[in-house]
Amino acid sequence: MAFTVTSLASGSSGNALVIQRDDAAILIDCGIALRTMERLLRYRGIAPESIRALLLTHEHGDHALSAAALARRYGAPVICNAATRAALGAELDGVAVELLPVGERACVGPFDVSSFRLRHDAADPVGYRVAADGAAMALAVDLGSWDDETAAALSGADLLVVEANHDRELLRASAYPWATRQRIFGPLGHLDNMQCGELLARAGVRAGHEVWLAHLSEQTNSPRMATAGVGRVLELANRRGVSLRALPRRSVNGPGGAPAWHSDTRLLQQTMF
Ligand SMILES: [Zn+2]
Ligand SMILES: [Zn+2]
Repeated sequence: MAFTVTSLASGSSGNALVIQRDDAAILIDCGIALRTMERLLRYRGIAPESIRALLLTHEHGDHALSAAALARRYGAPVICNAATRAALGAELDGVAVELLPVGERACVGPFDVSSFRLRHDAADPVGYRVAADGAAMALAVDLGSWDDETAAALSGADLLVVEANHDRELLRASAYPWATRQRIFGPLGHLDNMQCGELLARAGVRAGHEVWLAHLSEQTNSPRMATAGVGRVLELANRRGVSLRALPRRSVNGPGGAPAWHSDTRLLQQTMF
């Protein structure tokens, strides 16, 4: 039985990703308004009632905006770590919260879920790895730097969703205030295209893997720059044949209106080669 990963929104104006298998779905982040979220789910034919849980990477608004509202309306628990729970405070009052300490695993519906620590200026930000039926996806967004642990957490995943936030030169030359640029550049800010490529290379991506470049800045990056920049780093590292796709800010209605990945494409590739 295959599972499907669909990106509904990605970037500083909101993040949401849905993973489905049969009639069960889980969300990673819910950083857009509830009505927008419901509309984007409807576009994809996903009933909000099928959402079994909402995993939060961290408490920033572009990831957690309507998490509580969605959880309350559809009775799905929020899964996060204790520091993120504490940072969200009264916002989560009346919401069922299941704590997942960093590095631990849990069964969520049909999925095997684990988290890993990221370096970002939030209480205790994490990435997630979600596996089912012998396939895995891993997500690392909102991180200013990475280490071997980050690379290991992503390693071997069939679909990798990794932040490629900005182009360094564009950010340097941007009109952002000095303090904002320093924050983004910093070790607890956001990854640039080169850092993203280096992380992917260290994680061992190879032909047949699918990579989604996430959380692109509208001002200091573009889909073309991100895929070209990351692609160049991977080529230099002799990692050829990796499928790279820059995520749009929002999915749209209609066939092909949202980036989607099916775990059975991987199984298909395994039988083909
Ligand atoms: Zn963010
Ligand atoms: Zn953030």
